[in-house]
Amino acid sequence: MWEAFLLVSTALGGIFVLVFLYLIGTKQYRFSPKVTFTARHVPVHPELKNHSKTFQKEIIPIAENVHVAIGFGLANSILIEGTDCCIIIDTLECDEAAEEVREAFRAITKKPIKAVIITHFHPDHAYGIGCFLDDNPDVIAHETTRKFLEQVANIRSLITYSRGMKQFGSLLGEGMHENSGIGGKLRFGPSNGFKLFNPTVTVSKQLEVTYGGITLEIIHAPGETEDQLMIWWPEKKILFPADNIYTAFPNIYAIRGTMARDPLLWISALDKMLSLQPEILIPQHTRPLSGKAEIKSTITAYRDGIQFIHDQALKWMNQGCNEIETAQKVAECFPNALKSHPYLKEFYGTIKWGTRGIFHHYLGWFGGQPSSLHKLSTLKRSQNIVKVVGNENALFEKALIAMKTKHYQFALEICDVLLESGWTWMNKVRAIKIESLCQLAELAISANARNWYLTTILELEGMEIKPQAPQIKAQITGLKKMEDFFRFLVVRVNPEKLDEGEFLARFCFTDTDEDIFVQLKHGCATLRTGTDFNEGCDLTVKTTSDVWKSVACREVNPITAWMGGGLSIQPHPFKLSTFMSYFDVAQ
Ligand SMILES: [Zn+2]
Repeated sequence: MWEAFLLVSTALGGIFVLVFLYLIGTKQYRFSPKVTFTARHVPVHPELKNHSKTFQKEIIPIAENVHVAIGFGLANSILIEGTDCCIIIDTLECDEAAEEVREAFRAITKKPIKAVIITHFHPDHAYGIGCFLDDNPDVIAHETTRKFLEQVANIRSLITYSRGMKQFGSLLGEGMHENSGIGGKLRFGPSNGFKLFNPTVTVSKQLEVTYGGITLEIIHAPGETEDQLMIWWPEKKILFPADNIYTAFPNIYAIRGTMARDPLLWISALDKMLSLQPEILIPQHTRPLSGKAEIKSTITAYRDGIQFIHDQALKWMNQGCNEIETAQKVAECFPNALKSHPYLKEFYGTIKWGTRGIFHHYLGWFGGQPSSLHKLSTLKRSQNIVKVVGNENALFEKALIAMKTKHYQFALEICDVLLESGWTWMNKVRAIKIESLCQLAELAISANARNWYLTTILELEGMEIKPQAPQIKAQITGLKKMEDFFRFLVVRVNPEKLDEGEFLARFCFTDTDEDIFVQLKHGCATLRTGTDFNEGCDLTVKTTSDVWKSVACREVNPITAWMGGGLSIQPHPFKLSTFMSYFDVAQ
């Protein structure tokens, strides 16, 4: 018995020594990086730091009766004071920022606000509107603005939120966030209030308006967005170009995830601006500019910058270059005179991102290489790369070498392969990835890149980015038509739960007088309206829009709402639970 115990102990001791020697001998033991890098101590590129002066918080008076509020939110809000009332251009991104501006404007004039012009649908121009409605003003926007606003607020709200937070760095704390390229900080966190707006006056191509003796021409000028409006005040030769020009390289493609902006439309808008020969230019981001000659040369440089990358991108694409090669070629030959122009510094968009956007605009995702037609899954590809190199330790060593030789981008790419392969030594890779991101953030002149790198570090450290329930609800419950509201559900169908089955539901809304059928078939929810849809329904619900919004957002249980008398359900309440189970609305 005693001999057996000794034998087992010796064997275990031997195994322990062998394991210890193995660990000593392996690179994974020797290369144990310390987590010394963090998003909190990353120096800012000196040019980007200097650019922050552009957003110093103040009210800039122009002429006698125009005031530009800069630095209160991401965009500018503008007050134009007429004889007996005022006009506001844009309302910032949240109630808190808008209220500060409103207060500052009240100190200038107590005249009522009779018109609010929203230059385009982006939240930083529109979501603070609730603070400007006291005097029941006309709310003026392009005829398509509401449609674009609802896309952001509804069917792609989740991803728009998380990517927007990364691009603008809104979740970065004190000392981490420098600026957002075209403004200070986007104030759109979980604690900020906001409101979706409904235009009361819409613009198609051009509209002349007069308030308080001031006549403005509101002109549709698609560029940075399709619904962009610029405002021309002929009497004073003041042009409000909205976001078609700012003191930063044009964001032809926004990394938060947008369609590439059509460069030719944007150039046309800038040409239109030139033709007006403005003497004062007041954009919705960055500072006003005055002087006819100065404005002309600035707009010319801006339009030429866009035309250059557009034309050169096509030149290289036509020669068969792929997306990355095209971007590289265009960046290499971008003229120095444009590169050094203060309005074309890459604080926001960049030459390469814009060029890649143009590549996608014309050719879509396929770069022409047959290997990209049926790509391996991310997991399979990364596991195969690990095998080709030898093993995870060998690849990890390559990441360390890349880091030590200052090839931070390559180190980052290797880290992603290791993380995607599911290697168990994740913390070591994470540490190297964080160090790569810190180094790249320090080198970045683009605020968007810096913010994205640093927010990714916070994610690697455990932060989760997702909109809070009140933010989602505030957006979708702001949708006016119930048909629009149902689109929120349509993009959340779970085809596995529906399987091969079919389901037809009818919703009658007593307050909005809408009758909506939802047909579930082939993994799709198809919306139909009207009463001429005569197939037999599996479920009929009669209710009000507010009750249904609470049920659909999972705020109120359908059975509870039914018991409270807010819903009439045929043939029985559990059918509504079945219907709801076909949608993933978990937050
Ligand atoms: Zn903007």
